[in-house]
Amino acid sequence: MPGKTALVNCEVFTAIDGEVIKNGCVVVEDGNILAVGKESEVDIPQDSEVIDLGGSFVMPGLIDAHLHLQGFRTGDFVKEPLLTPFGVFVARAVNDAKALLDAGYTTVVDAGGLVALHLREAVREGSIVGPRIVAAGPPLSQTFGHADTHYLPSEWVDIRTTKKLTPFASLLCDGEDECRKATRYALREGADFIKIMATGGVLSQKDKPEYTQFTRKEIKAIVEEASKASRIVHAHAQGAEGIANAIECGVRVIAHAIYMGDNEFNLALEHKAVIVPTLAIVDKIVKEGAKHGIPEWGLRKAEEVYEIHIETVKKAYKAGVLIAAGTDYVGGWLPMGENSIELKIYSERIGMKPEDVLMSATKAGAYAAGLENQIGTLEPNKKADIIAVSGNPLANIDVLLDKDNIVFIMKEGEIYKKTV
Ligand SMILES: [Zn+2]
Repeated sequence: MPGKTALVNCEVFTAIDGEVIKNGCVVVEDGNILAVGKESEVDIPQDSEVIDLGGSFVMPGLIDAHLHLQGFRTGDFVKEPLLTPFGVFVARAVNDAKALLDAGYTTVVDAGGLVALHLREAVREGSIVGPRIVAAGPPLSQTFGHADTHYLPSEWVDIRTTKKLTPFASLLCDGEDECRKATRYALREGADFIKIMATGGVLSQKDKPEYTQFTRKEIKAIVEEASKASRIVHAHAQGAEGIANAIECGVRVIAHAIYMGDNEFNLALEHKAVIVPTLAIVDKIVKEGAKHGIPEWGLRKAEEVYEIHIETVKKAYKAGVLIAAGTDYVGGWLPMGENSIELKIYSERIGMKPEDVLMSATKAGAYAAGLENQIGTLEPNKKADIIAVSGNPLANIDVLLDKDNIVFIMKEGEIYKKTV
């Protein structure tokens, strides 16, 4: 929105350090934040449009640092991609993108998949409504890796050889040279960051979360190619050895992080890595996965790891490891728009302080997105991604779960919703 806007009569949570500015004010100019402070102290330009937020709680737009805008509707990811045309997944994901913005999510990080690459452009040009999308595109996996869909012929798995495009087509690569080439291919497809599979997983058929995938040499080659193009790397990493490999080779974001000990906590602190635990999906699979068609192997492994996972995240939090909120939701029964359930789990099961819960979905999320200089906090020169909430999420995180409580949504200076 060109021109200046002043948001007044609100409490402002800047997400810089957990403090709240009472009787606060945020001034926005041409999509960016110009000033933040107490209303009595901020110099509100004469020509500003003044918006009274009725005493609501203002904070940076929410960020989900790990999801997949894939338009899935069941847990049967074996059959659904084979039976559903790619365009149908895209059409569904258009609705999912809108649901995310409605829920106050102004940025999402798509941690692997093809649909988001297309949606990102459609959102940018204004053809559809949705959050800013930061997309990995096709993830890199070794043969027999987490994204080498084990029950399909290899040629159907790799985006370069498949004849049936699925939302999760990947790039299979083994050895340093193939890893470099796959990284370059992902960049060519438009990847904002590179996603790799550094261990086995819960939802891959024939491996286990503890299995280490890719060698250190391979990961280093990928990180090097990514950094030449100023991109960061995210790793799906669940076992301790794979997590240590990834962090020591320069991977910034550790997704899932089921098994970590003191060594891995120290490495994360030393290398400024951030973990994105994605507890929401595990919780949902354990409670409802059978009903929605999650295959037997996925259910069994999810049940095996859930409590261990919770304990690891609790210890990581105590050790001071940075945690960014991400759900791993894909649509359907893992519904876009209900992503703040991850924050409720942090509050109730991890024992995170309220301000840290909110910063996991703002400041830390921006770091995981590689956009820490642009979004995630309310301070001058950042993009004006701002929401206002009726009720105080520091006192009760549940207020973020009902989209009707998100009374004002601004993305890069554009007002998307105002019901206050
Ligand atoms: Zn994921």
